[in-house]
Amino acid sequence: MTLLDTALDTPVALRTGRRFTTADVAAMSASFEGCHPSEVIGWAVEEFGSRLSLSASFADTLLIDLAVKVEPDIEVVFIDTGFHFAETLATARRAMARYALNLTVLRPLPTAADVWTHGVDTCCGSRKVAPLERHLVANADAWMSGLRRDDGPQRADAPIVDLDLRGLVKVNPLAAWSTPDVERYILENDVLINPLTFEGYPSIGCWPCTDPADPTDPRAGRWSGSAKTECGLHA
Ligand code: SF4
Repeated sequence: MTLLDTALDTPVALRTGRRFTTADVAAMSASFEGCHPSEVIGWAVEEFGSRLSLSASFADTLLIDLAVKVEPDIEVVFIDTGFHFAETLATARRAMARYALNLTVLRPLPTAADVWTHGVDTCCGSRKVAPLERHLVANADAWMSGLRRDDGPQRADAPIVDLDLRGLVKVNPLAAWSTPDVERYILENDVLINPLTFEGYPSIGCWPCTDPADPTDPRAGRWSGSAKTECGLHA
C-alpha cells in the first residue's frame, strides 16, 4: 500500500461529524447511478450545507441552473486565471444577472507563474489549482463540478461521488449524463451558453490553451499539441 492509498483510506471527518472512506463514497456513488442530478445535488446540500461549493467554468450554466433550483444560495466559485476569453467573462456576468449568484471569484497570487515563462503544468498549478485548493481547504468539506463521462476517455470512469486528493468529498452530479441528456435539459430550461460553443469550441478554458475541436472529442482542443489533458483540479 502506498502513502497515497493510506491517505485515501483515512476517513475524512466533516462538519457534521460524519466520516467518509473511499468505500463509503464508492457505495454512495453506485447508489446514485440512474438518479437525476437534482437528487445528487439535494443529497450534497443536505449533507454539507454551507460547506459545499460549486466550481463553475462558465462554458454554460447547466450545473448552476440545476443547483440553484435546489439551493438558491449555494456558493459558486469561479477561478479567474487572468486568461479567460471575453465570452467566458460575459457569460459569468449574464449568469450573475439571471441567477443572483452567491459568487466567489478566486484569483492567483500576484507572483503566480504563467504559461509564457513556466509552461502549462506550472501555470495551471499556480493559476487554477492553488487558488481553488486554498479556498476549499479553508471553507469547504465538499465541492461539485460539471465533469461528465462523455467529456472524453480520460473521464469515462468518473464516479458521481468521490474523495479527492485534498481529502474533500467531490460530487459530480452530471457524471452519468450523456450529451443528448445535456442538450435536452439546456433546451427545456433555456440554460445560458458561452457563445464560443457555437464557434466550434466544445470545451472552453483559458484562451492560450483552448482551440476549436471536433464535438465528438470535446477536450481535444485543450492544450492541443501537448500531452496534457487535465488542469489538475479534478485530481
Ligand atoms: S489553461 Fe493555460 S493559461 Fe490557463 S492556467 Fe492552465 S496553462 Fe495557464
